[in-house]
Amino acid sequence: MLILVVNCGSSSIKYKLMDMKQESVLLTGLAERIGLVGSRIKQVSHTEKELVLEQDLPDHKAALETILKGMTDPQYGVIEDISMIKAVGHRAVHGGEKFNKSVIIDEEMMQEFEVLSELAPLHNPPNIVGIRTCQALMPHAIQVGVFDTAFHQSIPKHAYIYGIPYDLYEKYKIRKYGFHGTSHKYVSGRAAEILGKSADDFKAIVCHLGNGSSITAVKNGESIDTTMGFTPLPGLPMGTRSGDIDPAIIPFLMEKEDLSIGQVNDLLNKKSGVLGISGLSSDFRDLEDAAVEGNERAELALSIFAYSIIKWVGAFTAALGGLDALIFTGGIGENSKDVRERVLKGLAYMGIEIDEDKNKSRGKEVIVSKPGAGVTAMVVPTNEELMIARETLELASN
Ligand code: AMP
Repeated sequence: MLILVVNCGSSSIKYKLMDMKQESVLLTGLAERIGLVGSRIKQVSHTEKELVLEQDLPDHKAALETILKGMTDPQYGVIEDISMIKAVGHRAVHGGEKFNKSVIIDEEMMQEFEVLSELAPLHNPPNIVGIRTCQALMPHAIQVGVFDTAFHQSIPKHAYIYGIPYDLYEKYKIRKYGFHGTSHKYVSGRAAEILGKSADDFKAIVCHLGNGSSITAVKNGESIDTTMGFTPLPGLPMGTRSGDIDPAIIPFLMEKEDLSIGQVNDLLNKKSGVLGISGLSSDFRDLEDAAVEGNERAELALSIFAYSIIKWVGAFTAALGGLDALIFTGGIGENSKDVRERVLKGLAYMGIEIDEDKNKSRGKEVIVSKPGAGVTAMVVPTNEELMIARETLELASN
């Protein structure tokens, strides 16, 4: 079955066309700067034919129409007709408490999903536009929603309720939701497979480290706790997001710096994290280069990041009651030997001994700890699109 995986952001659409017979990628693409000056689409086929279209894309509908045209282009495309796409899997960010697994999209689901925009005002609305547009352009195809939050719906109540008046949970559904669920699910499942462990007898901690970073404790195939929360802001300090801070800092700053709610939100989401600490960059490559050259604030940002991971791994090992595997994924987790080394050296007390040679590898499945330790440290590149395609196939086949 041919499945199109669509990830709609506010001004971008990432997409992959997959043939699920061999789980192979036929075509991958990105539409950028939708609704802005300088919009473009780049698609690459499995035969490495590259199509770049620099043209006006005033909205998501125009972008998706152009994307579908590209797929069927006689020279650069990979299919003859759009009707060959039997199902579309949509990355959907916030499924709230309503969606604890992937679902076939119908009008009732859409109405419930639209209500959840209140919890994810930046992310759910573009997802909704993407779904509505695909429904209009591909009415023959089954549309499936795969939620970032769904995997975390197994987190027990004592881990998801905050220490604020309980009626605020009842009134506004303020609780921990967690994000990156599709990645945590794929990576923990794949790690069990690689280690030859049964998924129902496996304690893992997944460190998804990228522009946004989160850590999840996975017990027997289920998320039991995670570092992100009501929004993707808490937990580790990230590229530009603060991670955990004392909540009293917010009213303090608003008063001292005369900031509005919007300005403080902006500060915590876009100007904080390793960018804010270093004053230099949100990109770990820049920070690592600068630290080597002696930049103290870059070094400080890197050590705060690693220290935070070490602390969470300790906390989640306690929550899991032991640990079989510590897994790194995401742009940083997959590529930064420096971050992995800092973290693993801080976890030597667990018996983990880093294999310096294997730790040099980038973007590949690899075990980076020496044999013998009770805990295996490994890298598993994430593949959210494959996970979305698999869940879409399962629902569409039924
Ligand atoms: P993601 O959000 O998962 O795409 O991750 C993006 C981030 O990964 C970038 O901002 C970099 O900070 C980081 N990254 C990518 N490649 C490397 C690398 N070779 N070394 C260190 N960090 C990297």
